[in-house]
Amino acid sequence: MYRFLGFVLLLWLGMAGSPAADDFDRQRQRLTADIAALAHETAAETGRREFAAPVMTAMSRVPRHRFVPEEQVPHAYENRPLPIGHGQTISQPYIVALMTDLIDPRPGQTALEIGTGSGYQAAVLAELVGRVYSIEIVEPLAWQAAERLKALGYANVETRAGDGYRGWEEAAPFDAIVVTAAASHVPPPLIRQLKPGGRMVIPVGAHFMAQYLLLVEKKADGAITTRQILPVSFVPLTGGGR
Ligand code: SAH
Repeated sequence: MYRFLGFVLLLWLGMAGSPAADDFDRQRQRLTADIAALAHETAAETGRREFAAPVMTAMSRVPRHRFVPEEQVPHAYENRPLPIGHGQTISQPYIVALMTDLIDPRPGQTALEIGTGSGYQAAVLAELVGRVYSIEIVEPLAWQAAERLKALGYANVETRAGDGYRGWEEAAPFDAIVVTAAASHVPPPLIRQLKPGGRMVIPVGAHFMAQYLLLVEKKADGAITTRQILPVSFVPLTGGGR
């Protein structure tokens, strides 16, 4: 009896001490299923019942537990934002999937992200497009994310520390731009850096007021259209330009 209990205790300690990689895999598959269910539930608002298969594959591949601080690892596969230090957060996985799906990513495209944070959204984009550029204003977060993305083998992501309001002129124009901090307005430099036919997703709204996720499209003739998708809650875009 005691020997059996000892065995169970050892087994439990072993699992608690270093959760097996396939346990994270299982949690991630469950999270991906939750995201698919939520996509269905929010179809009336978002206009999409399902996210594209490659987007869901990317969500099921990127190891979110490698993008959060150690104390958050047990929560890495919960469908909610988590603190990553410096008062910032890694976004809710469903929102990451939605934003990624909205820009309609294709192999070979070039994408820009404003607000690298943990690097998670950049990794999801890197699974889907040819090249990702990502800017983070909090320097230690920028460095950490760069190191993490390199360690995980995301060689097609280039990061830099700085104010993303002005975009990344040298790498422009972009097929897609994903802004992951809430702005009071759509930054004109980002509109300029979008290719004709390109798409941008950006949360817009004054601080402490309702924010809306917007889908901004630049048509082939350069005309801009904007569609409100969902109410959201993002940390604010900081820096000079806002
Ligand atoms: N995309 C991130 C989550 C971002 S949270 C992830 O996947 O983990 C928003 C991030 O935007 C924060 O890290 C914040 O520091 C950054 N940020 C805020 N204003 C910015 C600006 N003007 N330029 C670049 N990054 C900015």
